[in-house]
Amino acid sequence: MSDSTPHDTPAPPFGGRSRSELGRIVVPEDELLGRVAALGKEITADYADRPPLLVGVLKGAFLFMSDLARHIDLPVELDFMAVSSYGSATKTSGVVRIIKDLDTDLTDRHVLIVEDIVDSGLTLAYLRKNLAARNPATLEVCSLLVKEGLQKVDPDLRYVGFRIPPVFVVGYGLDVDECYRNLPYVCEYAEPDR
Ligand code: 5GP
Repeated sequence: MSDSTPHDTPAPPFGGRSRSELGRIVVPEDELLGRVAALGKEITADYADRPPLLVGVLKGAFLFMSDLARHIDLPVELDFMAVSSYGSATKTSGVVRIIKDLDTDLTDRHVLIVEDIVDSGLTLAYLRKNLAARNPATLEVCSLLVKEGLQKVDPDLRYVGFRIPPVFVVGYGLDVDECYRNLPYVCEYAEPDR
């Protein structure tokens, strides 16, 4: 497994909400795109003889999943799950609710979970257990971001985009109260009372 080190520069302006909420850029756009392309190449090589079923975790992983899939040179299938673990707060509750389940039967499939970010790891632990019970041939995880030092147990990630400091981030799929998902980079969310 390989990953890259994020940058630490101020975020450029963004329309709509007060841009004072946006803090430093944690992963700039060019690094995101480069790393996603590299992950796609790695996955293409690893799954050459067994095309994977990509399971995207909505909503946060939608941009990552879309870019990643275009860099996998295999006949992949895509499906999505929507789970809720945060509501509008920025701390995990540990309670995970399935809002939308998969359409696909996972029996004997090579399943690759595509996650936006692993924080405490509770959401992923729940998902892994839930999907493993559906008898896939293999079950691996690709997470764009992992927060350093916050997981109580090893989240066992086959692919990682970037390891980042334990700060709350938005952009490239990640939101706060449904905003900022369309930022093309990942930056710190810096609202003073959070
Ligand atoms: P965990 O269960 O690992 O603590 O949290 C995983 C989920 O919480 C992620 O899939 C994501 O939806 C949300 N999350 C965790 N950290 C962040 C963050 O820094 N920013 C945003 N926007 N969401 C986060």
